[in-house]
Amino acid sequence: MTHQPEAAQAATPTSAKEILKRSAGYFKPHKFIITIACIAMLITGLSSAGIAWLVKPALDDIFINGDRQALFWVPIAFVVLTLVKGGTRLAQNYLMQIASLKVLEVLRDELYRKVIMLPLRFFEHSQVGVLMSRIINDVAAVRVSMPTIVLMLRQVISAASLLVVVFYQDFRLAMWAIIGLPLAFFPFVYFARRLRKLGRKSQEQTADITALLQESLSGVRVVKAFCTEDEEAKRFDKNNKRLLTLNRKECLANESSSAVMELVGALGVAVVIWVGGMQVIEGKTTPGTFFSFVTALIMMYEPVKKFTGANNALQRALAGAERIFGLLDDPRLTVEQGGNMELDTPFQSLAFQNVSLTYADGTQALKDISFTVQAGERIAIVGPSGAGKTTCVNLIPRFYDPSEGRILVNGLPVQEYTLPSLRHAVSLVSQDNFLFNLTVEENIAYGIANVNREAVIEAAKAAYAHDFIEALPQGYDTVIGERGVKLSGGQRQRLTIARALVKDAPLLILDEATSALDSESERTVQKALDNLMEERTSIVIAHRLSTIINATRIMVMEGGRVAAMGTHQELLASSPLYAKLYTMQYQSNGEGA
Ligand code: ADP
Repeated sequence: MTHQPEAAQAATPTSAKEILKRSAGYFKPHKFIITIACIAMLITGLSSAGIAWLVKPALDDIFINGDRQALFWVPIAFVVLTLVKGGTRLAQNYLMQIASLKVLEVLRDELYRKVIMLPLRFFEHSQVGVLMSRIINDVAAVRVSMPTIVLMLRQVISAASLLVVVFYQDFRLAMWAIIGLPLAFFPFVYFARRLRKLGRKSQEQTADITALLQESLSGVRVVKAFCTEDEEAKRFDKNNKRLLTLNRKECLANESSSAVMELVGALGVAVVIWVGGMQVIEGKTTPGTFFSFVTALIMMYEPVKKFTGANNALQRALAGAERIFGLLDDPRLTVEQGGNMELDTPFQSLAFQNVSLTYADGTQALKDISFTVQAGERIAIVGPSGAGKTTCVNLIPRFYDPSEGRILVNGLPVQEYTLPSLRHAVSLVSQDNFLFNLTVEENIAYGIANVNREAVIEAAKAAYAHDFIEALPQGYDTVIGERGVKLSGGQRQRLTIARALVKDAPLLILDEATSALDSESERTVQKALDNLMEERTSIVIAHRLSTIINATRIMVMEGGRVAAMGTHQELLASSPLYAKLYTMQYQSNGEGA
């Protein structure tokens, strides 16, 4: 079993009643449709009973007494009852499906909304695939819960109406017939428990498989590069086999439950034939009564069987619902909270005051960081890998909040500002040039309302992206494949730079790419970045010589602390760490800049 994240596992087994109550809440808005469906269902049950009852006049009046009137009305009644039964059943099923599809839609939306609103740290502990499975598979399970209950109810009504016929036709015989009923209770409860447990496990396994799929397909380049296709296929196969085993067990439990219930039913019928046959032979009852009785009894078999089947499906649905509500109702999973102030004044300053940060896993990534950035400055952050550079910049748009200390923008703590206004004021251009499966234009204007084509083109030009975009099959309307596979690394970077240009935030945070581009692309990307940094305050995690040379100040980080701060010349003279970094990292890759 792969590592399960906190939230995906949050579901603790709750009682079936509670889960059902929670599910029922989602069906409540559709109570009108459901009521009509239930009325239809009642009629279906009554017409079933009516059909069984008809056997008596058919046999006694037509076949034994030769009643011509009955010969006329019994067949008509039979057709009419069948028609009513079929029609109402169709209406009931269709209406229930409509209600449940609507519930599915609402629940899926609600879950997605909940997940996408969660803070970033949640996603670091969660496997994307497991979340995907929650939203797709488990929600589908909830959808069947209510219709299944209604289906069970219908079976109960059918069985009850037939039971009335059975008792009406021959009370004593009916008592004999239901003698086996208490016997059926124990296997029923046993199989229900077992199926719910298996259902829970197989939903978990499905989530694991989705996670594995998501991971290996999005990391397919690594898989190819390391030639691990075979290992991945084996890993998949192992998980797939586990699912197969679970499904096999479910199937066995399902079928055995039918077989056992059938046997219990057969015992009842056997007793009835024996006792009833004797009564007919002894002339104590008419064949019509007896056959009507047996027909009703045999017809009862159908709803009882369906009831068991529906209960099996319900147990599976409960297992899914339990996980969904576990995620939806987990009090630990809270939506990101911002303040009430709008950050709408021009950017003036950013200040870190004694900021420390410890990650959830205990890693102390930042220790007592203090620095100030004034509008118009260009700050370069340098330091060995793991020094805390990325963590430090991630605090500015509040991807994380400091464990200690404060971060001020324009003199106010960042927590005071609304999240949208804070995040709109900051442009983050990272190494992860994520592009969506949207058109080039939509990618460039991502998240910005009311951008016209001219502004997009202008940004693309400044990002040196216009020419290659024009050369694409549909220009700005070309849809970019998953993770931008159709574009080169440099082109993807320039698109994300264009995106930041359109966003036009006053504060720019740039994580310079370490991935090697050929020097031609490197130069174009650099020129695009220069355009982007112009007239903006920027904080750059520096990997290029030109960046540190042109920076107003350089912040040297080591082990989560600020080791030194100053201009290139000052630091060369005062900081041995900087001098070492400079010789090792920047001088060597300076040619491209
Ligand atoms: P840099 O960008 O300078 O390479 P980072 O800010 O990425 O450094 O990392 C600083 C330290 O924090 C490292 O020890 C890293 O392993 C740790 N770290 C980074 N991100 C996380 C995280 N999400 N959870 C736990 N530890 C993290």
